[in-house]
Amino acid sequence: MKKISLLGSTGSIGVNTLDVIERYPENFQVCALSAGSNVELFARQIRKFKPALAALFDTTKVDALKKLVADLDVEIVSGQEGSVSVASFSEADLVVSGVVGSAGLLPAIAALRAGKNLALANKETLVIAGELVLKEAALTNTKIIPIDSEHSAIFQALNGEKLERIKKIILTASGGPFRTFSLKQMENVTVKEALNHPNWSMGAKITIDSSTMMNKGLEYIEAKWLFGVETNVEVIVHAQSIIHSMIEFVDTSIMAQLGIPDMRVPIAYALTYPDRFESELPSLDLATMGDLTFEAPDYERFPCLQLAMDAMEMGQTLPAVLNAANEIAVQAFLDELIPYKDIAEIIRMVMHNHRPVPLKELQDVLEADRWAREEATKLITVTH
Ligand code: MG
Repeated sequence: MKKISLLGSTGSIGVNTLDVIERYPENFQVCALSAGSNVELFARQIRKFKPALAALFDTTKVDALKKLVADLDVEIVSGQEGSVSVASFSEADLVVSGVVGSAGLLPAIAALRAGKNLALANKETLVIAGELVLKEAALTNTKIIPIDSEHSAIFQALNGEKLERIKKIILTASGGPFRTFSLKQMENVTVKEALNHPNWSMGAKITIDSSTMMNKGLEYIEAKWLFGVETNVEVIVHAQSIIHSMIEFVDTSIMAQLGIPDMRVPIAYALTYPDRFESELPSLDLATMGDLTFEAPDYERFPCLQLAMDAMEMGQTLPAVLNAANEIAVQAFLDELIPYKDIAEIIRMVMHNHRPVPLKELQDVLEADRWAREEATKLITVTH
């Protein structure tokens, strides 16, 4: 029986993780849960999965949660500290992080420090503090198992291979809902259009990131930290999202991982790793699929992808700044405060105004993150 601490249980990854856990009651047990602010769903999850510890990030709603689960034997904690307690819960064999945004960083570090293997869906952890996170994992000899479908694909294709035999990683991108839009058409897209992803069902933030291809930019940075900063990573647009990523080895042989676009597949792999369990999900029907297509990404229409690659190249605090500015800009777009095309523009300006410093400790990341949020908010207020 593997005991699981799940961070971000009411988000898209969290809900899918609980769906997987429920399918294997003999193998997995939920020992601790954390959520952001969706009290009603969180209370239902606590009732169903009976964790010993539950943390709600939103401190203003803790009393409401306590009322809803008053009859249950569960300890309720709250705030950032609460998430950290869930991440380092002593009984956990594996910590799954499905937190959205940079709020995932401290709990992820706490899990590694507590000697827990970390199944990671939260991109920001590695994007903003890759170097520091890897150091923590090395210190406690813990493993980071990627859940992001692309990184899970690369992780699986690397089974039994040597990192130094990689020629390049080929990171596939669906291209999102605006893959075929002209630059002109992209200027006036609405929130509703941007939220309409062709292949994947995900949360709002990541769906917008997919439409700007910032998601692929963040995954590019994540891939560098997971599989070697010196490793060549190439992005290719593959509209069907069937090949989840590939590795070309030094002998030009390419290994690809294919599957239906359903996050429960990479989540299950992270939970069962290094084993695999039988699944009730439908098999990929290649004959019905028909064509698999590939095209080079267009950096002019998708400037966020280039910005992310530049941030990784420049290093230091720039990836953290890119990420924070993006979070603020995406929220402003969702709130209809800025037009779509300004998401990239805000990020570009914040990066331009930033003075990067080396990442020596967590504080450097948190300070860069705070500065970039403030700067992005200022730019949005001044220019709109
Ligand atoms: Mg992905």
